Amino acid sequence: MKYILVIGDGMADNPVPELGGVTPLEYANTPGLDTLASAGTLGSVKNCPDGLPAGSDTAILSIFGCDPRECYTGRAPLEAAATGIKLQPGDIAYRCNMVTIEDADKPWGEKKILSHSAGSIEGEVSEAIVTALFNDPVFSAAAKNAGLHVYPSRSFRHIAVQRGAVGGGQKLSPPHDHLGEPIGPILPTGGANAETLYALMKLAHETLDHHPLNEKLRAAGKMPANGIWFWAEGTAVRLPSFTEAYGKTGGVISAVPLCHGIAALVGLERITVPGATGELDTNYEGKVQAALEVLKKHPFAAIHVEAPDECTHNGDTPGKLEAITRLDSRVVAPLVAALREGGEPFRILILSDHKTLTSTRGHDGTPVPFLLYDSRRDHKTGYKHRESDGDKGEFIGEGTRLMSLLFGEFGND
Ligand SMILES: [Zn+2]
Repeated sequence: MKYILVIGDGMADNPVPELGGVTPLEYANTPGLDTLASAGTLGSVKNCPDGLPAGSDTAILSIFGCDPRECYTGRAPLEAAATGIKLQPGDIAYRCNMVTIEDADKPWGEKKILSHSAGSIEGEVSEAIVTALFNDPVFSAAAKNAGLHVYPSRSFRHIAVQRGAVGGGQKLSPPHDHLGEPIGPILPTGGANAETLYALMKLAHETLDHHPLNEKLRAAGKMPANGIWFWAEGTAVRLPSFTEAYGKTGGVISAVPLCHGIAALVGLERITVPGATGELDTNYEGKVQAALEVLKKHPFAAIHVEAPDECTHNGDTPGKLEAITRLDSRVVAPLVAALREGGEPFRILILSDHKTLTSTRGHDGTPVPFLLYDSRRDHKTGYKHRESDGDKGEFIGEGTRLMSLLFGEFGND
Protein backbone atom coordinates (compact mmCIF):
# COMPACT_ATOMS: atom_id res chain seq x y z
CA MET A 1 0.00 0.00 0.00
CA LYS A 2 1.29 3.45 -0.91
CA TYR A 3 0.15 6.73 0.62
CA ILE A 4 0.44 10.09 -1.09
CA LEU A 5 -0.29 13.58 0.13
CA VAL A 6 -0.67 16.44 -2.36
CA ILE A 7 -0.89 19.98 -1.04
CA GLY A 8 -1.93 22.71 -3.46
CA ASP A 9 -0.94 25.74 -1.46
CA GLY A 10 -3.72 28.31 -1.18
CA MET A 11 -5.87 26.68 -3.91
CA ALA A 12 -9.09 26.98 -1.94
CA ASP A 13 -10.87 30.31 -2.09
CA ASN A 14 -14.24 31.97 -1.73
CA PRO A 15 -16.55 32.54 -4.72
CA VAL A 16 -15.10 35.16 -7.06
CA PRO A 17 -17.53 37.54 -8.82
CA GLU A 18 -15.29 37.79 -11.93
CA LEU A 19 -15.48 34.00 -12.27
CA GLY A 20 -19.26 34.04 -12.37
CA GLY A 21 -19.59 33.61 -8.61
CA VAL A 22 -17.70 30.32 -8.33
CA THR A 23 -14.31 29.60 -6.76
CA PRO A 24 -11.10 29.08 -8.78
CA LEU A 25 -11.13 25.36 -7.85
CA GLU A 26 -14.62 25.06 -9.28
CA TYR A 27 -13.89 27.24 -12.32
CA ALA A 28 -10.65 25.54 -13.37
CA ASN A 29 -10.77 22.56 -15.67
CA THR A 30 -9.59 19.64 -13.51
CA PRO A 31 -10.68 16.30 -14.94
CA GLY A 32 -8.03 14.37 -12.95
CA LEU A 33 -9.15 15.75 -9.61
CA ASP A 34 -12.81 15.38 -10.51
CA THR A 35 -12.41 11.70 -11.39
CA LEU A 36 -10.79 11.02 -8.02
CA ALA A 37 -13.37 13.12 -6.15
CA SER A 38 -16.20 11.33 -7.83
CA ALA A 39 -14.90 7.93 -6.71
CA GLY A 40 -13.43 9.05 -3.41
CA THR A 41 -14.58 10.82 -0.30
CA LEU A 42 -14.80 14.57 0.11
CA GLY A 43 -14.97 16.63 3.24
CA SER A 44 -13.73 19.83 4.75
CA VAL A 45 -11.02 20.40 7.30
CA LYS A 46 -9.80 23.23 9.47
CA ASN A 47 -6.01 23.29 9.40
CA CYS A 48 -5.43 26.70 11.00
CA PRO A 49 -6.56 26.73 14.65
CA ASP A 50 -8.36 29.88 15.75
CA GLY A 51 -6.08 32.33 17.53
CA LEU A 52 -3.00 31.46 15.47
CA PRO A 53 -1.98 33.09 12.17
CA ALA A 54 -3.68 31.57 9.12
CA GLY A 55 -0.75 30.47 7.00
CA SER A 56 1.11 27.54 5.53
CA ASP A 57 3.18 27.24 8.71
CA THR A 58 0.31 26.48 11.08
CA ALA A 59 -1.68 24.65 8.40
CA ILE A 60 1.08 22.32 7.21
CA LEU A 61 2.14 21.57 10.79
CA SER A 62 -1.45 20.42 11.38
CA ILE A 63 -1.47 18.35 8.21
CA PHE A 64 1.71 16.53 9.32
CA GLY A 65 0.08 15.78 12.67
CA CYS A 66 1.82 18.44 14.77
CA ASP A 67 -0.62 20.53 16.79
CA PRO A 68 0.43 24.15 16.14
CA ARG A 69 -1.08 25.18 19.46
CA GLU A 70 1.61 23.10 21.13
CA CYS A 71 4.61 23.35 18.88
CA TYR A 72 4.33 26.57 16.87
CA THR A 73 6.83 29.26 17.84
CA GLY A 74 6.79 31.04 14.46
CA ARG A 75 7.44 30.26 10.82
CA ALA A 76 11.07 31.18 10.48
CA PRO A 77 12.46 28.48 12.84
CA LEU A 78 10.70 25.86 10.68
CA GLU A 79 12.31 27.29 7.56
CA ALA A 80 15.67 27.58 9.28
CA ALA A 81 15.54 23.82 9.94
CA ALA A 82 15.29 23.22 6.20
CA THR A 83 18.77 24.57 5.65
CA GLY A 84 20.23 22.91 8.70
CA ILE A 85 20.48 26.10 10.77
CA LYS A 86 20.58 25.04 14.42
CA LEU A 87 18.96 27.63 16.66
CA GLN A 88 20.41 28.08 20.16
CA PRO A 89 18.36 29.04 23.20
CA GLY A 90 17.99 32.82 23.06
CA ASP A 91 18.14 32.99 19.26
CA ILE A 92 15.26 34.48 17.32
CA ALA A 93 14.86 33.41 13.70
CA TYR A 94 13.09 35.66 11.19
CA ARG A 95 12.06 35.37 7.61
CA CYS A 96 13.85 38.14 5.74
CA ASN A 97 11.89 38.65 2.49
CA MET A 98 13.17 40.63 -0.44
CA VAL A 99 10.33 43.04 -1.08
CA THR A 100 9.44 45.89 -3.42
CA ILE A 101 8.70 49.25 -1.86
CA GLU A 102 6.97 51.84 -4.01
CA ASP A 103 9.16 54.18 -6.10
CA ALA A 104 7.75 57.46 -4.83
CA ASP A 105 8.99 60.73 -3.45
CA LYS A 106 7.30 60.23 -0.08
CA PRO A 107 8.42 59.75 3.49
CA TRP A 108 9.45 56.13 4.20
CA GLY A 109 6.34 55.22 6.21
CA GLU A 110 3.96 56.49 3.52
CA LYS A 111 5.42 54.39 0.75
CA LYS A 112 3.43 51.30 -0.20
CA ILE A 113 4.64 47.73 -0.27
CA LEU A 114 4.06 46.48 -3.81
CA SER A 115 5.41 42.95 -3.67
CA HIS A 116 6.27 40.54 -0.85
CA SER A 117 8.61 38.68 -3.21
CA ALA A 118 10.22 41.57 -5.12
CA GLY A 119 8.10 40.56 -8.10
CA SER A 120 8.90 36.84 -7.71
CA ILE A 121 12.58 37.73 -8.01
CA GLU A 122 14.95 35.24 -9.60
CA GLY A 123 16.83 33.22 -7.00
CA GLU A 124 20.36 34.18 -8.01
CA VAL A 125 19.54 37.89 -8.17
CA SER A 126 17.89 37.76 -4.77
CA GLU A 127 20.91 36.03 -3.29
CA ALA A 128 23.23 38.62 -4.85
CA ILE A 129 21.21 41.57 -3.56
CA VAL A 130 20.90 40.37 0.02
CA THR A 131 24.58 39.48 0.06
CA ALA A 132 25.46 42.96 -1.22
CA LEU A 133 23.29 44.48 1.50
CA PHE A 134 24.90 42.55 4.34
CA ASN A 135 28.34 43.34 2.89
CA ASP A 136 27.62 47.08 2.80
CA PRO A 137 29.86 48.56 5.52
CA VAL A 138 27.18 50.75 7.13
CA PHE A 139 24.45 48.14 7.00
CA SER A 140 26.72 45.33 8.10
CA ALA A 141 27.81 47.35 11.17
CA ALA A 142 24.17 47.99 12.09
CA ALA A 143 23.28 44.32 11.62
CA LYS A 144 26.25 43.24 13.72
CA ASN A 145 25.20 45.65 16.46
CA ALA A 146 21.79 44.03 16.47
CA GLY A 147 23.34 40.53 16.67
CA LEU A 148 21.72 39.75 13.33
CA HIS A 149 23.12 37.32 10.78
CA VAL A 150 21.56 36.51 7.41
CA TYR A 151 21.41 33.11 5.69
CA PRO A 152 20.76 33.95 2.01
CA SER A 153 18.58 31.61 -0.04
CA ARG A 154 18.06 31.27 -3.77
CA SER A 155 14.60 32.83 -3.66
CA PHE A 156 13.00 35.85 -2.04
CA ARG A 157 12.91 33.89 1.24
CA HIS A 158 16.07 34.57 3.22
CA ILE A 159 16.43 33.68 6.90
CA ALA A 160 17.92 35.96 9.53
CA VAL A 161 18.94 34.87 13.02
CA GLN A 162 19.35 37.33 15.86
CA ARG A 163 21.43 36.32 18.84
CA GLY A 164 20.86 37.65 22.33
CA ALA A 165 17.86 39.82 21.48
CA VAL A 166 14.87 40.28 23.74
CA GLY A 167 12.02 40.13 21.29
CA GLY A 168 9.03 39.80 23.60
CA GLY A 169 6.02 41.89 22.65
CA GLN A 170 7.19 42.88 19.20
CA LYS A 171 4.65 42.82 16.42
CA LEU A 172 5.82 41.97 12.89
CA SER A 173 3.42 41.75 9.96
CA PRO A 174 3.41 39.23 7.09
CA PRO A 175 4.08 41.37 4.01
CA HIS A 176 1.89 39.29 1.65
CA ASP A 177 -1.18 40.22 3.70
CA HIS A 178 -0.68 43.97 3.13
CA LEU A 179 0.17 44.37 -0.53
CA GLY A 180 -0.61 47.79 -1.89
CA GLU A 181 -0.82 49.33 1.59
CA PRO A 182 1.41 52.07 3.04
CA ILE A 183 4.05 50.43 5.20
CA GLY A 184 3.85 52.81 8.19
CA PRO A 185 1.17 50.89 10.09
CA ILE A 186 2.71 47.49 9.39
CA LEU A 187 6.35 48.18 10.25
CA PRO A 188 7.69 46.55 13.46
CA THR A 189 6.27 47.91 16.70
CA GLY A 190 6.32 46.92 20.36
CA GLY A 191 9.55 47.47 22.23
CA ALA A 192 13.21 48.20 21.81
CA ASN A 193 13.98 45.25 19.56
CA ALA A 194 11.16 46.20 17.20
CA GLU A 195 12.81 49.62 16.91
CA THR A 196 16.08 47.91 16.00
CA LEU A 197 14.37 45.87 13.27
CA TYR A 198 12.53 48.96 12.03
CA ALA A 199 15.82 50.85 11.75
CA LEU A 200 17.43 47.96 9.84
CA MET A 201 14.52 47.79 7.38
CA LYS A 202 14.71 51.54 6.78
CA LEU A 203 18.47 51.42 6.31
CA ALA A 204 18.10 48.46 3.95
CA HIS A 205 15.73 50.48 1.77
CA GLU A 206 18.14 53.42 1.69
CA THR A 207 21.04 51.11 0.88
CA LEU A 208 19.27 49.07 -1.77
CA ASP A 209 16.95 51.54 -3.49
CA HIS A 210 19.51 52.77 -6.02
CA HIS A 211 21.90 49.83 -5.84
CA PRO A 212 23.20 48.99 -9.34
CA LEU A 213 21.55 45.55 -9.18
CA ASN A 214 18.18 47.22 -8.64
CA GLU A 215 18.74 49.80 -11.36
CA LYS A 216 19.43 46.85 -13.63
CA LEU A 217 16.12 45.23 -12.61
CA ARG A 218 14.25 48.50 -13.23
CA ALA A 219 15.93 48.89 -16.62
CA ALA A 220 14.72 45.41 -17.52
CA GLY A 221 11.16 46.40 -16.59
CA LYS A 222 11.23 44.29 -13.42
CA MET A 223 10.35 45.21 -9.85
CA PRO A 224 13.34 46.29 -7.77
CA ALA A 225 14.25 44.34 -4.60
CA ASN A 226 14.58 47.60 -2.69
CA GLY A 227 13.64 46.42 0.76
CA ILE A 228 13.87 43.62 3.27
CA TRP A 229 11.02 42.57 5.50
CA PHE A 230 11.42 40.81 8.83
CA TRP A 231 8.50 38.67 9.98
CA ALA A 232 7.57 35.12 11.04
CA GLU A 233 9.82 35.31 14.07
CA GLY A 234 10.20 32.37 16.40
CA THR A 235 12.49 30.49 18.73
CA ALA A 236 13.96 26.97 18.54
CA VAL A 237 11.35 24.27 17.96
CA ARG A 238 10.97 20.49 18.31
CA LEU A 239 8.35 18.44 16.50
CA PRO A 240 7.03 14.93 17.17
CA SER A 241 8.40 12.11 14.99
CA PHE A 242 6.16 11.24 12.03
CA THR A 243 7.42 7.68 11.92
CA GLU A 244 6.73 7.13 15.62
CA ALA A 245 3.25 8.62 15.29
CA TYR A 246 2.15 6.75 12.15
CA GLY A 247 4.64 3.93 11.68
CA LYS A 248 5.50 5.21 8.19
CA THR A 249 8.67 6.55 6.63
CA GLY A 250 8.66 8.85 3.63
CA GLY A 251 9.78 12.00 1.90
CA VAL A 252 8.53 15.50 1.19
CA ILE A 253 8.94 17.14 -2.22
CA SER A 254 8.64 20.91 -2.20
CA ALA A 255 10.27 24.07 -3.46
CA VAL A 256 9.73 26.02 -0.26
CA PRO A 257 11.89 25.88 2.86
CA LEU A 258 8.88 25.72 5.17
CA CYS A 259 7.89 22.25 3.97
CA HIS A 260 11.45 20.99 4.03
CA GLY A 261 11.92 22.36 7.52
CA ILE A 262 8.82 20.61 8.84
CA ALA A 263 9.96 17.44 7.04
CA ALA A 264 13.39 17.63 8.66
CA LEU A 265 11.94 18.26 12.11
CA VAL A 266 9.43 15.37 11.94
CA GLY A 267 12.06 13.02 10.51
CA LEU A 268 10.98 12.72 6.87
CA GLU A 269 13.33 12.96 3.90
CA ARG A 270 13.56 16.39 2.24
CA ILE A 271 13.63 16.21 -1.53
CA THR A 272 14.61 19.15 -3.72
CA VAL A 273 13.85 18.90 -7.42
CA PRO A 274 15.93 20.88 -9.93
CA GLY A 275 13.77 23.55 -11.52
CA ALA A 276 11.20 23.50 -8.70
CA THR A 277 10.72 27.21 -8.14
CA GLY A 278 7.61 27.60 -6.02
CA GLU A 279 6.12 29.57 -8.90
CA LEU A 280 3.86 28.76 -11.85
CA ASP A 281 6.84 27.68 -13.98
CA THR A 282 7.89 24.97 -11.52
CA ASN A 283 9.08 21.52 -12.57
CA TYR A 284 5.83 19.55 -12.11
CA GLU A 285 7.09 16.47 -13.95
CA GLY A 286 10.23 16.41 -11.81
CA LYS A 287 8.12 16.49 -8.67
CA VAL A 288 6.04 13.54 -9.83
CA GLN A 289 9.18 11.57 -10.71
CA ALA A 290 10.67 12.38 -7.32
CA ALA A 291 7.52 11.19 -5.55
CA LEU A 292 7.57 7.93 -7.47
CA GLU A 293 11.23 7.47 -6.52
CA VAL A 294 10.39 8.07 -2.84
CA LEU A 295 7.59 5.51 -3.06
CA LYS A 296 10.05 2.85 -4.27
CA LYS A 297 11.78 3.11 -0.89
CA HIS A 298 9.03 4.30 1.46
CA PRO A 299 5.27 3.92 1.91
CA PHE A 300 4.65 7.70 2.07
CA ALA A 301 5.37 10.67 -0.19
CA ALA A 302 4.16 14.25 -0.06
CA ILE A 303 4.16 16.76 -2.91
CA HIS A 304 3.67 20.41 -2.15
CA VAL A 305 2.90 22.91 -4.93
CA GLU A 306 3.27 26.55 -3.97
CA ALA A 307 2.12 28.23 -7.20
CA PRO A 308 -1.62 28.71 -6.49
CA ASP A 309 -0.77 30.66 -3.33
CA GLU A 310 1.88 32.81 -4.99
CA CYS A 311 -0.39 33.66 -7.94
CA THR A 312 -3.18 34.69 -5.55
CA HIS A 313 -0.83 36.93 -3.56
CA ASN A 314 0.25 38.48 -6.84
CA GLY A 315 -3.37 39.24 -7.74
CA ASP A 316 -3.00 36.98 -10.77
CA THR A 317 -6.32 35.15 -11.09
CA PRO A 318 -5.57 33.61 -14.53
CA GLY A 319 -2.29 32.39 -13.00
CA LYS A 320 -4.13 30.81 -10.07
CA LEU A 321 -6.47 29.00 -12.46
CA GLU A 322 -3.49 27.86 -14.53
CA ALA A 323 -1.68 26.66 -11.38
CA ILE A 324 -4.71 24.57 -10.40
CA THR A 325 -5.01 23.20 -13.94
CA ARG A 326 -1.31 22.28 -13.97
CA LEU A 327 -1.56 20.62 -10.55
CA ASP A 328 -4.36 18.56 -12.05
CA SER A 329 -2.90 17.71 -15.45
CA ARG A 330 0.83 17.63 -14.64
CA VAL A 331 0.88 16.30 -11.07
CA VAL A 332 -2.27 14.44 -10.09
CA ALA A 333 -3.12 12.82 -13.44
CA PRO A 334 0.38 11.46 -14.26
CA LEU A 335 0.99 10.46 -10.64
CA VAL A 336 -2.23 8.48 -10.46
CA ALA A 337 -1.59 6.95 -13.89
CA ALA A 338 1.87 5.80 -12.81
CA LEU A 339 0.55 4.39 -9.53
CA ARG A 340 -2.18 2.47 -11.33
CA GLU A 341 0.39 1.09 -13.73
CA GLY A 342 2.52 0.04 -10.76
CA GLY A 343 -0.35 -2.17 -9.67
CA GLU A 344 -0.01 -1.67 -5.92
CA PRO A 345 -3.09 -0.21 -4.17
CA PHE A 346 -2.75 3.38 -3.01
CA ARG A 347 -4.50 6.10 -1.08
CA ILE A 348 -4.09 9.74 -1.99
CA LEU A 349 -5.12 12.80 0.01
CA ILE A 350 -5.35 16.09 -1.89
CA LEU A 351 -6.07 19.43 -0.29
CA SER A 352 -5.14 23.05 0.18
CA ASP A 353 -3.39 24.00 3.38
CA HIS A 354 -5.46 27.17 3.76
CA LYS A 355 -7.55 29.41 1.56
CA THR A 356 -5.82 32.27 -0.20
CA LEU A 357 -8.49 34.77 -1.15
CA THR A 358 -8.65 36.40 -4.55
CA SER A 359 -10.66 39.19 -2.89
CA THR A 360 -7.93 40.19 -0.40
CA ARG A 361 -4.79 38.52 -1.85
CA GLY A 362 -4.28 37.27 1.72
CA HIS A 363 -4.72 34.03 3.66
CA ASP A 364 -7.89 32.81 5.31
CA GLY A 365 -8.10 30.14 8.00
CA THR A 366 -11.63 28.86 7.40
CA PRO A 367 -12.06 25.17 6.41
CA VAL A 368 -10.78 23.90 3.07
CA PRO A 369 -12.05 20.93 1.06
CA PHE A 370 -10.08 17.68 1.15
CA LEU A 371 -10.26 14.75 -1.23
CA LEU A 372 -9.34 11.23 -0.17
CA TYR A 373 -9.16 8.54 -2.81
CA ASP A 374 -8.51 4.85 -2.29
CA SER A 375 -7.68 2.90 -5.45
CA ARG A 376 -9.59 -0.13 -4.10
CA ARG A 377 -12.89 1.71 -3.79
CA ASP A 378 -15.38 3.62 -5.90
CA HIS A 379 -17.86 5.53 -3.78
CA LYS A 380 -19.63 6.93 -6.86
CA THR A 381 -20.35 10.21 -5.11
CA GLY A 382 -20.23 12.30 -8.26
CA TYR A 383 -18.53 15.04 -6.25
CA LYS A 384 -15.89 17.41 -7.57
CA HIS A 385 -12.89 18.75 -5.69
CA ARG A 386 -14.44 22.07 -4.80
CA GLU A 387 -15.42 23.94 -1.68
CA SER A 388 -19.18 23.47 -2.01
CA ASP A 389 -18.86 19.68 -2.30
CA GLY A 390 -16.35 19.56 0.55
CA ASP A 391 -18.96 21.21 2.74
CA LYS A 392 -21.35 18.34 2.03
CA GLY A 393 -18.94 15.73 3.43
CA GLU A 394 -17.42 15.03 6.82
CA PHE A 395 -16.10 18.06 8.70
CA ILE A 396 -12.78 17.58 10.44
CA GLY A 397 -12.23 20.28 13.03
CA GLU A 398 -8.56 19.47 13.58
CA GLY A 399 -6.16 19.13 10.66
CA THR A 400 -3.96 16.97 12.90
CA ARG A 401 -6.36 14.07 12.19
CA LEU A 402 -5.65 14.06 8.46
CA MET A 403 -2.71 11.66 8.42
CA SER A 404 -4.71 9.08 10.39
CA LEU A 405 -7.39 9.49 7.75
CA LEU A 406 -4.89 9.00 4.92
CA PHE A 407 -3.43 5.92 6.60
CA GLY A 408 -6.91 4.49 7.02
CA GLU A 409 -6.68 4.24 10.78
CA PHE A 410 -10.37 5.00 11.26
CA GLY A 411 -11.40 2.04 9.16
CA ASN A 412 -14.68 3.70 8.19
CA ASP A 413 -14.05 4.25 4.54
ZN1 LIG B 1 0.67 32.38 1.06
